Amino acid sequence: MDADVAVIGVGTMGSMATWQLAKRGISVLGFEKYGIGNDRSAVGGESRLFRTAYMEGKEYVPLLQESKRLWQELEKETGESLLTLNGGLMIGDPDTQVMKNVQHSIESFDLDHEILQEKEAHRRFPQHRLFARDIMILDKNAGFLRPELAVTTAATQAEELGASILRYTEVKDIKPDRSGVTISTDKRRYRVGKVLVTTGPWSGAFLPELSRQFKARRLVLTWFSAKDITKFYPKNFPIFARMRKDFRLTGAPTLDGTMVKASNTKNPDLIEDTGQINRDVKVEELREVGEAVKELIPELIPDPVRASVYMDAYTPDDHSVVGFLPGMDENVMIASGFSGHGFKMAPIIGRIAADLLEDGNTSYDIEHMDPKRYVENLA
Ligand SMILES: Cc1cc2nc3c(=O)[nH]c(=O)nc-3n(C[C@H](O)[C@H](O)[C@H](O)COP(=O)(O)OP(=O)(O)OC[C@H]3O[C@@H](n4cnc5c(N)ncnc54)[C@H](O)[C@@H]3O)c2cc1C
Repeated sequence: MDADVAVIGVGTMGSMATWQLAKRGISVLGFEKYGIGNDRSAVGGESRLFRTAYMEGKEYVPLLQESKRLWQELEKETGESLLTLNGGLMIGDPDTQVMKNVQHSIESFDLDHEILQEKEAHRRFPQHRLFARDIMILDKNAGFLRPELAVTTAATQAEELGASILRYTEVKDIKPDRSGVTISTDKRRYRVGKVLVTTGPWSGAFLPELSRQFKARRLVLTWFSAKDITKFYPKNFPIFARMRKDFRLTGAPTLDGTMVKASNTKNPDLIEDTGQINRDVKVEELREVGEAVKELIPELIPDPVRASVYMDAYTPDDHSVVGFLPGMDENVMIASGFSGHGFKMAPIIGRIAADLLEDGNTSYDIEHMDPKRYVENLA
């Protein structure tokens, strides 16, 4: 045996799982096709939003609360600053499903928040222009994460604790049997006890049954200059997510003191071949997000000054897939399909993966992520 557990894909979820497994003294071998913290898929672009009043559904709230604790634990262990809780604004019509989900999350878990009607919203956060019927909900347990640093920190900490990570090593195939799993890479074969697949948008590549369920999507991040950048410092400008009919504008305060991130993440394009993703940003995409910014955040200069392209794996119901794969002898588990909202929960997913790989079960409620809803048997 080369290791008790192999983690295939040491990106967002893989780095956290490797850290959590190594912490338990389990021998773990990571395989990463590129370098650690690479920006080839879902990591990159300087910040990721952390929110707890969750517009994707209240079932995530306990996981996010635990995730916050684990982000802070990783910070404590390593001395790095990964999560800044400067608050988060959810803005929209209270009758929309996403704003109802935010309210249900708050009511069900008594989350620390404020609801600001138009006048008060304008007084406190004049950077945002509100429309008739819009309300602003301030989530006090929200803020931003540093994605590249988070992944490199978790992976480095895992290595400190004894994990081995093979960089620039692409897994081509896995073959589970009763006593373990054989892994073939572009270099040689390895034999391990169990496997965790965390290959994000590539997860269908060597699990063909799942490839029908996972769709890789292309997301464009954009940054803007401001008329007065001090108004967009983290202490003055919480992260935000704003829903309108034609776009979903999300953003973060300035982190470099010159640019503010505001991006349209609604209906990202499908990518047919993950190896051939178009990293060019279309003029139309720049124009559309510029128009949204002009309308909603008039203090920004509405021409994007920076833009970059990433991808994530989406499932049909936008909930991820976390658990053992049926028909694979309880030896292969997956954590993928995070559908554009997984970064914030990466440490708790790492922990759940470690629970499942070590004990076969977890105390966290992950029913909404059960792989069985998509695959009955992969044998
Ligand atoms: C632009 C953008 C903005 C986002 N904003 C937010 C946000 O604000 N808040 C939030 O919570 N979430 C956000 N998300 C979602 C979040 O970033 C993703 O859900 C999460 O990072 C997915 O993690 P992952 O581990 O599944 O994939 P990844 O982090 O992409 O990791 C997959 C890894 O597997 C490796 N790999 C693939 N195939 C192989 C192979 N065969 N062998 C070895 N290695 C392999 C890849 O190189 C990669 O490193 C955003 C996503 C994007 C793209």
